[in-house]
Amino acid sequence: MDFAASVTRRLAKVASPSSGTASKQLYFVGFLLTFTVIVSISHPEDVLTPAYLAALGVLALATALAFVAPWERLDTRLAALVPVLDIVAIALVRDLMRDSAVAISLLSFIPALWLVGRLRGRGAAIATLSVAALITVPSLMRAERIDSLILAHSLLLPFTVLQIGLLATGALKVLDAQARRMTATLQEKERLLESAAAGERLLENILDTVDVGIVVVDRDGHDLLMNRAQRRIHRLASPADIEDPDEAQLALRYPGTTCPIPPAERPVRRAVEQETFSNYVVTLGPSGGRSTDFSSSARQILDRHGDRDGAVVVFSDVTSYVEAARAQQRFVAAISHELRTPLTSVIGYLDLAREDPGLSEETRSHLGVANRNAEQLLAIVEDLLQDQVTRSASGGLTLRPHRLSTIAGQVVESASLRAQESGIRLVQELQETPEVPIDEHRITQALTNLLSNALKYTSRGGTVTMSSRLVEGALEIAVADTGIGMSDQEQANLFTDFYRTESARMSTIQGHGIGLAVTRRIVLEHGGQISVRSTPGAGSTFAIRLPLAAADSAV
Ligand code: ADP
Repeated sequence: MDFAASVTRRLAKVASPSSGTASKQLYFVGFLLTFTVIVSISHPEDVLTPAYLAALGVLALATALAFVAPWERLDTRLAALVPVLDIVAIALVRDLMRDSAVAISLLSFIPALWLVGRLRGRGAAIATLSVAALITVPSLMRAERIDSLILAHSLLLPFTVLQIGLLATGALKVLDAQARRMTATLQEKERLLESAAAGERLLENILDTVDVGIVVVDRDGHDLLMNRAQRRIHRLASPADIEDPDEAQLALRYPGTTCPIPPAERPVRRAVEQETFSNYVVTLGPSGGRSTDFSSSARQILDRHGDRDGAVVVFSDVTSYVEAARAQQRFVAAISHELRTPLTSVIGYLDLAREDPGLSEETRSHLGVANRNAEQLLAIVEDLLQDQVTRSASGGLTLRPHRLSTIAGQVVESASLRAQESGIRLVQELQETPEVPIDEHRITQALTNLLSNALKYTSRGGTVTMSSRLVEGALEIAVADTGIGMSDQEQANLFTDFYRTESARMSTIQGHGIGLAVTRRIVLEHGGQISVRSTPGAGSTFAIRLPLAAADSAV
């Protein structure tokens, strides 16, 4: 079984068009010589004849041709010459091998398969004709008499060669068709790969040309792509002593502060956590050193089934805009400061003027309107100044041990008269908190902002509650109200400068959208966090959390 399989494999190799002429010839020579040597052991006289020497000569000629001729450049039809010469050699040797004549004739299958391998159907015809002309016809001519049995015997060889040739031709045609299909598939794949590679090169070039940093991460947060601008940004934020920092180790701060952004709030981490956001401004670079402001935006990438496949985050340098905005703020603050003194004086004199008993009711009323408007103007000026004070004081907190619960109590007390006038129930739920190092003035400012908002955005009959407690290793102060509330979308932009919700803008409630931004900066400077929970029409709760060791985390 194994022998048959190995012979089949060898014959297939001989027939294979990929096998070279020289190697095929060597294979055949080896086969023929081995066979004749075995026969000559018992009949040496058979091989030492002119016919055998002639056969060797023909073999030598065929072998020389197989080695010397430049087959790759010659017409494939010429390659038929070598196997036909082999059939001549078989014919010469066959006549010497009386008893083994039939067996040696079978060797002609080898050149026949070779011819089929080269020339397919034409090869089968050449092999059949060669065998018939070189072996069958001469042996018939040498026969003493020709009867139907001898004729049938003689025709058996060319007939078998023809059958094997046709079978091999059919099999090779199937293989040819398969090979053509495979070649076509491979070429198509190569073309697709080439066009994909060209597309990738184009994309890389485009990405490297834009000056916006782009980073693409897979669903587990591993970097898939980072363009040149992003690599530069990464280097900018890399601490000098860390070779290849991950995002958590990069120097990233809240803009306008020295306060590092906690890892969970960093842009790429937020994107990996499936958030989509726009215009999230962060400051890169060590505090005290050269720093750059970047606006970051993130979008989720979906695969063709709509499942999340990763995220893309872009960073654009907004330092010049931020600088311009800060310059504008400084300018506004300077102007406000200049306005405050004369305004205070105007209000004072208006108050004095209104006290004059000789005034007519109408003039008194006019002065009242002027006074209210001047007061309102002063409130705006003070808000703007407050913001400036907080910004310029970044990093310069005056920390002393204080109880947050005590400060919260004082803030509630100051607001109680206003709450009473507005018909709002003001509730204190203050658990005493331990003393921690904080800037009393700024924390008072932050809590006053939250409480005054709660009173402002709650209508008569509502309730505002100030509470304090210890929670998860932090101090929490919460201001809850039963006021107008906010939608999720409104909450997302809440701590941005000059932002006011749609409902606040539409109402008659006065405001400038500065208080919460200031409050957030104060909280961040203390190493804390501020959060909001709100439902439109039901109310809002603002919560400030400061670490118990506020002084250690404040930078
Ligand atoms: P403003 O001077 O407008 O109150 P803030 O920065 O303090 O400025 O607040 C920004 C905006 O947030 C407000 O205009 C309002 O739309 C919304 N807001 C703040 N606090 C509350 C609250 N307790 N209830 C509902 N909306 C609030």
